[in-house]
Amino acid sequence: MGTEQLPVSGDNFILTGDAASLVDPFSGEGIGNALYSGMLAAAAIENCIKDNRYDAAFLKEAYDDVLYKRIGDELRISTTMQKLCRFPWLFNFVVNKAHKSKSLSNTISCMFTDMDLRDQLRKPSFYFKILFNR
Ligand SMILES: Cc1cc2nc3c(=O)[nH]c(=O)nc-3n(C[C@H](O)[C@H](O)[C@H](O)COP(=O)(O)OP(=O)(O)OC[C@H]3O[C@@H](n4cnc5c(N)ncnc54)[C@H](O)[C@@H]3O)c2cc1C
Repeated sequence: MGTEQLPVSGDNFILTGDAASLVDPFSGEGIGNALYSGMLAAAAIENCIKDNRYDAAFLKEAYDDVLYKRIGDELRISTTMQKLCRFPWLFNFVVNKAHKSKSLSNTISCMFTDMDLRDQLRKPSFYFKILFNR
């Protein structure tokens, strides 16, 4: 998935999990988002039945908007991270530094679950801090 948010529903249909391209592009994990999107899809379908509306405009509000509000930031950060992998020298630099620094390796481990921490990887200041051991 790109940084733009792809539609995950339309007239009379809802996509969840892999079908909606919800695999985290950086970690490759998709089970959590598949389950989560399934739960949100069920809630959206309940609203569809209640209002007897199954059109794209209704589903976008009932499902796409809710889903991306919850996991959109996470997917955006991971997409940026995936793009950073195109610069192997940068990743080698970070991994070599982490190999020598226990606190940096702990920080990177925590980035798998802490989105605010992971967002640091998008900022040049993060790399400057590593470069100058701050
Ligand atoms: C090698 C590998 C390792 C992975 N490791 C991890 C991991 O460690 N952690 C993690 O979070 N994610 C991991 N993932 C990703 C994760 O498996 C998927 O993101 C997740 O399973 C998606 O769930 P889903 O329900 O959307 O799709 P799926 O799990 O693919 O389920 C879709 C189901 O629909 C069935 N189906 C397909 N077509 C039809 C049809 N016409 N009629 C009826 N049934 C149909 C399929 O047989 C399948 O059972 C891994 C993926 C791969 C390929």
